[in-house]
Amino acid sequence: MQKNIFLSILCAVIILSSCSTAGSSSKNLSRHKAINTDLFGTYVEITAYTATTEEFDLAAEQIIDLLENLDRQYDIYTEYDGINNLKTINNFAGIRPVAVSGEIIELLVFSKQAFVETEGAVNTALGSVLSIWHNYRETGMENPESATLPDMNELIAAQLLSDMSDVIIDEVNKTVFLSKPDMSLDVGALAKGFAAEKAIKLAGEIGLTSCLIDFGGNVVTLGKPEEGNRNHWKVGVQNPTDIGGYLDILSLNGQSAVTSGDYQRYYEVDSVRYHHIINPGTLMPSSGFKAVTVVASDSGIADMLSTALFILPFDEGERLAVKYGAAVIWVFADGTARVNSEYRKISQYFK
Ligand code: AMP
Ligand code: MG
Repeated sequence: MQKNIFLSILCAVIILSSCSTAGSSSKNLSRHKAINTDLFGTYVEITAYTATTEEFDLAAEQIIDLLENLDRQYDIYTEYDGINNLKTINNFAGIRPVAVSGEIIELLVFSKQAFVETEGAVNTALGSVLSIWHNYRETGMENPESATLPDMNELIAAQLLSDMSDVIIDEVNKTVFLSKPDMSLDVGALAKGFAAEKAIKLAGEIGLTSCLIDFGGNVVTLGKPEEGNRNHWKVGVQNPTDIGGYLDILSLNGQSAVTSGDYQRYYEVDSVRYHHIINPGTLMPSSGFKAVTVVASDSGIADMLSTALFILPFDEGERLAVKYGAAVIWVFADGTARVNSEYRKISQYFK
């Protein structure tokens, strides 16, 4: 048996598979894979154990179709013919409500809950602030020599447009209205997990019993790998420190693992790293941790929590994790790590 380790610089988790070729189970299921490299700005790799290749291909196609549809709807940078998406909502800020799909309403209702649950740490109405950081980061990545930081006054002015209560959702008529001109939504903190959860639910509905979806390093699982005596998918947690490699190996069966890290998207000014997770209190990249990995039964929750726990002080994050029964590893800015009791149950190295 050979270990097959897929590493990616973007990747927060590493899927550890016990066979390099398709394995088989007592149920006569064999392992199949499909990869799509252009969804939500990242890749999606679907692994499933099915009786036939045809069964797998059909399932993978439906899962990719679902994710493509959600990708277009949750896009804040591009509009598409025939649909109103999040960019359409942002374009009509301060002008009028926009009619949208049930999937957008659901995501924004979840975003409002996330705002309350995280006491404002995860704020999808922070788009005006996040877009300033986004623009400086993109420019700084293109021209590292002349990279600069946003002006604090500009950030403070944008913050005035980040009030979640200005996001008006009409669930009955399915409209969304941003009531202040120039305000905008950014769902980057939770949309990928929310979509991944829909994808794995669909996998179950169409009859799969054993499936893992690696969504740009965020992982969702359904059942266990149907191979030998394995009861869990083995998923590695990427080490966010300069040493690289992986910090730990997790055993998952039906849960999702999501990581927020300072190494995932960043630029440098005067040799200091400025990453993409912004503390709404300081309007600066959050500084306490290098990475936080959260394992929860729902991927949307895991995604929301990973961003929240990356921003919140350790004690507050610890309490929030308990509330959701989530397993968490925090890697502090100095490279040391702490885990909670739920995490120890699924960890190989932190017992
Ligand atoms: P994640 O990798 O899930 O932690 O999400 C990071 C992404 O969420 C960033 O790229 C931004 O699009 C967005 N984001 C950053 N900071 C916040 C915040 N405080 N609240 C809501 N969204 C944020
Ligand atoms: Mg997140």
